[in-house]
Amino acid sequence: MPSTPQQPLKVIILGGGIAGLTTALSLTKYSPSQFPLPQITIYEIRPEPATIGGAVNLTPNALRLLNHLGALQEIRARNYGKECLAVEVFDLYTGARLAESSFRGPVGRGLGEPPFTALRITRGEALKGVLAAIEKHDNIKLVCGKKTVDIQEDINGVEIKFAGGGKVSADILVGCDGIHSVARLTHVEPERKSVYSGICNAFGFAKRRKTESGGFEETHFETTGMNFGRRGILLTSFHNEDKDSVYVGALMQVPEIASRDGWKAAGKDAENTRRDMLERYSPAALDLIPHLIADAEDLFLWPVFTLSAGGKWATDRVMLIGDSAHAMPPQGESTGIVFEDGVLFARCVGRWMEKNNGAPVKEAFNAYESLRRERIDIAYNESQNVVKTVQDVGWLGHKIKMNIIPWYLWWTRSYREKHFIEDVTTCELNY
Ligand SMILES: Cc1cc2nc3c(=O)[nH]c(=O)nc-3n(C[C@H](O)[C@H](O)[C@H](O)COP(=O)(O)OP(=O)(O)OC[C@H]3O[C@@H](n4cnc5c(N)ncnc54)[C@H](O)[C@@H]3O)c2cc1C
Repeated sequence: MPSTPQQPLKVIILGGGIAGLTTALSLTKYSPSQFPLPQITIYEIRPEPATIGGAVNLTPNALRLLNHLGALQEIRARNYGKECLAVEVFDLYTGARLAESSFRGPVGRGLGEPPFTALRITRGEALKGVLAAIEKHDNIKLVCGKKTVDIQEDINGVEIKFAGGGKVSADILVGCDGIHSVARLTHVEPERKSVYSGICNAFGFAKRRKTESGGFEETHFETTGMNFGRRGILLTSFHNEDKDSVYVGALMQVPEIASRDGWKAAGKDAENTRRDMLERYSPAALDLIPHLIADAEDLFLWPVFTLSAGGKWATDRVMLIGDSAHAMPPQGESTGIVFEDGVLFARCVGRWMEKNNGAPVKEAFNAYESLRRERIDIAYNESQNVVKTVQDVGWLGHKIKMNIIPWYLWWTRSYREKHFIEDVTTCELNY
């Protein structure tokens, strides 16, 4: 442990996904200036950083943190993504626009101070932006193709062993290795396994059709539309400035497949997924809907697995961050929640270093957990509502839902905006 300011904190991060990379940036940014920068090594199991396909909506709080960490600048410099001023809600069968969840803020420039709107971006481009920011920091090393098989810790530190031999040690380990986390399953809480949520996400990208006049086929949404049907939600969204392609993402109830191989085979069977989607999201009021499903390329079916609420997040020297600690069904904000995790964790570790009172690092871990549990529990409950909304319903159920959604969005607006405005870089740590 760095008992004097001369010794850098040695950190192992497992997982080079969005949580691992942004936690490395956060630990660097919030390292107290009187200490040398932490020496961080990220071990990623894949041969190179990669992510599942699809596109995510980065909400104002997520953009604020990426900006703090220097990654939004990289994303903007590359012109990645499409600004999203609101997510619009439509009834699939009438094409009627029912409501919107807006990021415009009081004067149309966004929410919070400084104001941010939202950005729909492919996961791949988001990752590239964060990687570009990582490259600017000499204290962060990314090592790919390393499979960790064992984690041990004692009073002196933490040590990991790799498949095929080799071991490394550090002062702390941060498990950012996703829902099937080896840090959780071999070390922190082996009995907390992921379970199938009952819903799948099918996604792909469709090039826009041209009309006879040479222009693009019209869309009913400005940037992102959520089209509610009786058997699931179909998200249709632009994801680049040219607006020449549409991200198509279906959230729908799908019976469980018993084996992992069975899910893999179903995942790759694009034509079966397409047939299912064409049938599910029919009869659509707008021709655009079947066109987009028919044209979607690289269509993939992704079963959404989830962890139980609560759970153990840490031992004395290992902390779980992101999906490894609290994977939940999509509720539209998970990426922002992951960024918040990393920033708050890094701030607590920084405060512990500043205090330099001889207390073990677990003191910082505890401070982080007491800040974080409530927010995660609330997000978890919200994600359960999404699962319920996606369940198959009859015509009457659909009609009732279409009437409730505008009220629900109106009723929850100020609550949603509270999170979008929140700035975890400045909030009180109480530590
Ligand atoms: C279907 C779906 C739709 C979603 N839509 C949205 C959305 O619209 N908006 C939003 O904000 N969020 C969305 N989310 C949530 C968001 O994608 C996740 O919360 C986020 O990607 C979690 O990041 P992570 O880094 O914790 O995990 P991951 O992205 O899973 O990254 C984990 C990394 O660890 C690596 N790894 C795994 N095991 C090991 C090991 N043993 N050793 C080393 N490395 C390892 C993996 O290869 C990977 O690179 C969605 C999620 C799903 C499933």
